[in-house]
Amino acid sequence: MRTIDIFDTTLRDGEQSAGINLNTAEKLEIARQLERFGATVIEAGFPASSPGDFEAVEKIASIVKNSTVTGLARAMKSDIDTSWEALRVAQQPHIHIFLATSPIHMEYKLKKSPEQVVDIAVEAVKYAKKYFPLVQWSAEDAFRSDPEFLVQIINKVIQAGATTINIPDTVGYATPQEYGALFKFLKENVTGIDRVKLSAHCHNDLGMAVANSIAAIENGADQVEGTINGIGERAGNAALEEIAVALHIRKDFYKIDTGVNLQEIKRTSQLVSRLTGVAIQPNKAVVGKNAFAHESGIHQDGMLKNRETYEIITPELIGETVAPLSLGKHSGRHAFKDRAISMGFELTDEQINEAFAQFKKLADRKKEITEEDLFVLFTGKQIESADVPIYDLQNVQVQYGTSNIPTATVSAVVPTGEEVTVATTGSGSVEAIFNTLELLVKGEVHILDYRVTSIGKGRDALGEALVNLSFNGEVFAGRDVSQDVLEASAKAYLNAINRKLLKEKLKIKEPAIG
Ligand SMILES: [Zn+2]
Repeated sequence: MRTIDIFDTTLRDGEQSAGINLNTAEKLEIARQLERFGATVIEAGFPASSPGDFEAVEKIASIVKNSTVTGLARAMKSDIDTSWEALRVAQQPHIHIFLATSPIHMEYKLKKSPEQVVDIAVEAVKYAKKYFPLVQWSAEDAFRSDPEFLVQIINKVIQAGATTINIPDTVGYATPQEYGALFKFLKENVTGIDRVKLSAHCHNDLGMAVANSIAAIENGADQVEGTINGIGERAGNAALEEIAVALHIRKDFYKIDTGVNLQEIKRTSQLVSRLTGVAIQPNKAVVGKNAFAHESGIHQDGMLKNRETYEIITPELIGETVAPLSLGKHSGRHAFKDRAISMGFELTDEQINEAFAQFKKLADRKKEITEEDLFVLFTGKQIESADVPIYDLQNVQVQYGTSNIPTATVSAVVPTGEEVTVATTGSGSVEAIFNTLELLVKGEVHILDYRVTSIGKGRDALGEALVNLSFNGEVFAGRDVSQDVLEASAKAYLNAINRKLLKEKLKIKEPAIG
């Protein structure tokens, strides 16, 4: 059976999409999970774009052992030098250099002739080879490039030492037939193409990213790039969990193996959704909430008689098990710690103690502690940043009645270290809290999106709040979990503001590529 490499760019192309801003601890947590998921390559970021990205790439490169870690770089020496600094600690240093090759990008964006573009690409790859054993070169906007020109530049880049050639459909314009044909053409016309890996990178603007990726595989691609849940710029990237499950379920047809640990799909998907704040549409293939729900009577009847009548994928395949949870109110610290370890968390003794105290408090208030609750609790501990929160909520109180004006009172520790209490009104409880917090943070805040969801089932389920806001013109997403949704909302609001302040502290620039 042929094996295809899975190149995950959740932390680079995915993180680049509107409103997502992950801190280093969150990126590390996602990288650890991507390693468990079985990604062949993890693109951890764009080291030269900001000190924050550099730090995250370096940390990920030093802890991830079973996946190759890479970083993105423009075709310039300074980017390659910076990438080396971040990636030299990796077990198998890998760099991803990109340069546009389509007429529109070369003329208007790069303002370079095709000959100049060839020279820049060759120079960059040669320079990178001095440091990196693995050099991937991407022809940005390859699908809209002249195929003859692609053959010419790829010939030279392979000679210069590239080990992987990526052919992205940067703007999501391709159809499966055309994209497959381009791979076939390159396979037949590029000298030495069989010595390197050929990679596909698709965007979902026309809803064809997964289909295009699979068409590329059928026509010779050795690697597919994408993100978990298909997040990414505009309509997103190809969803890796969909590709992995499609190739698995239709093994009879494709005869391809990906090395993905399918059992980790659910957890990876949930973690990425929770930390990025990007919700999964309920009807999304493989990981949507309704992906395994059978509503119609005829279907339910069929399912009862034989599940295979209407079910081609089982929830168990992607790790959605309802394992009985043996932990409860009376469980001891030892069993609790064992559970954390068996769920793959690496917490210090101090973190275990803190998590255990939170667990006991929760067990007092909540009838049944679920696997999901524990997952949220452990993840929360693991990503707790060493940076002290800049605004730290101490207390929130709301007075609400159907016939009087809601008033919120909030106490919080502010950046100067003092505790401040403010109060004001709003037309509803949440608005009163948000109005009060706006007084506290002293800036112009617009709420762009606000969602509250429950974690798991039941009336005593934990509430998760997500606030997408603009603070003095910049957009940030914040989230938090609490047993009370009003408290979760206030914390999520401050979480977004803290991200803004943390970003300023690190002077993070926006990467500007697709
Ligand atoms: Zn992309």
